[in-house]
Amino acid sequence: MDGSLPRDPAAVPLTDPFGRTVRYLRLSVTDRCDFRCVYCMAEDMTFEPKAELLTLEELDRLAGAFIGLGVRKLRLTGGEPLVRRNVMTLIRSLARHLDGGGLDELTLTTNGSQLARFADELAGCGVRRVNVSLDSLDAGRFAAISRWGRYDRVMAGIDAAAAAGLRIKINMVALKGVNEDEFDRMIAWCGDRGFDLTLIEVMPVGDVGGETRLSQYLPLSVVRDRLAARWTLTPLAETTGGPARYVRVAETGGRLGFITPLTHNFCEGCNRVRVSCTGQLYLCLGRDESADLRAPLRADPSAVSVVAAIRAAIARKPRGHDFVIDRAGRAPAVRRHMSATGG
Ligand code: SAM
Ligand code: SF4
Repeated sequence: MDGSLPRDPAAVPLTDPFGRTVRYLRLSVTDRCDFRCVYCMAEDMTFEPKAELLTLEELDRLAGAFIGLGVRKLRLTGGEPLVRRNVMTLIRSLARHLDGGGLDELTLTTNGSQLARFADELAGCGVRRVNVSLDSLDAGRFAAISRWGRYDRVMAGIDAAAAAGLRIKINMVALKGVNEDEFDRMIAWCGDRGFDLTLIEVMPVGDVGGETRLSQYLPLSVVRDRLAARWTLTPLAETTGGPARYVRVAETGGRLGFITPLTHNFCEGCNRVRVSCTGQLYLCLGRDESADLRAPLRADPSAVSVVAAIRAAIARKPRGHDFVIDRAGRAPAVRRHMSATGG
């Protein structure tokens, strides 16, 4: 693949009007998925026509442009990143930035369904850790939440990733009345297996058909209070520049994160942007502002036009978001689905 995009020293660091430096890119490589999680998409979800998607070469060039602008961490996501055809070609190519020192970390967020197939190769490329979504340890409940997911395959994928030496963080979306009785069990299981765990609040993004956000929404402030009655939770100072806050669970030694975009304001330290699989740059998870990077990428085989478009967009990065879930506001706060930008 084309690895010829030059670094642009004049553009480093990529700093927004509020003094925040963008070091982290989440790149969606597909909006398609082999699951249909109830909080993420409707069962009859409509996907982008394939022609709208960036090619693997374009994704590679785009990532290279961001890395040239000082991005140090790249997370591939989706949809399900590992169902994109030939995704390993892209990952192998991106790994050159790890070898070359342009990237500190190349990682991905996955539902785990394809990990048994790809774990060894990912580790071989220099991927050190993966986030795996797992909302329940009960096979029947897992099937009800993911609709099309196969619990045994995900477990086999997690085992393969662990055997390949990948560090694993489990992402669990907290769903009112659905899996809220499982947090203790999940903390213990992750502790036994040496995995970190992050609990995620449902975010009002995209129309998921039928389910109302209010019925799924469980504030993590409430969850944290409940957990504190059973576990010894010690706050950790570290932050990844994202919406997670971490504690150490004394009884297991594991790290537990809370992603609380609705109950905690995390925007002041935001260091990240997201790009959809069609090349739309989203400046904030909780807002619709975007910039098209596909047109400059296609119009100009050099990095010049796309770098200019990225710079112009970062100059418009909003200070923060305004997610709200309430009885009055039934419409999603953000029109796109989470599968467009990968969380
Ligand atoms: N398919 C991969 C997976 O599930 O890990 C990657 C993409 S998925 C959109 C990324 C993360 O977003 C997952 O952990 C998923 O649980 C979470 N997610 C999806 N929709 C969400 C929503 N409406 N609110 C909160 N988290 C959501
Ligand atoms: Fe697919 Fe991930 Fe969305 Fe579930 S959360 S439907 S696995 S993209």
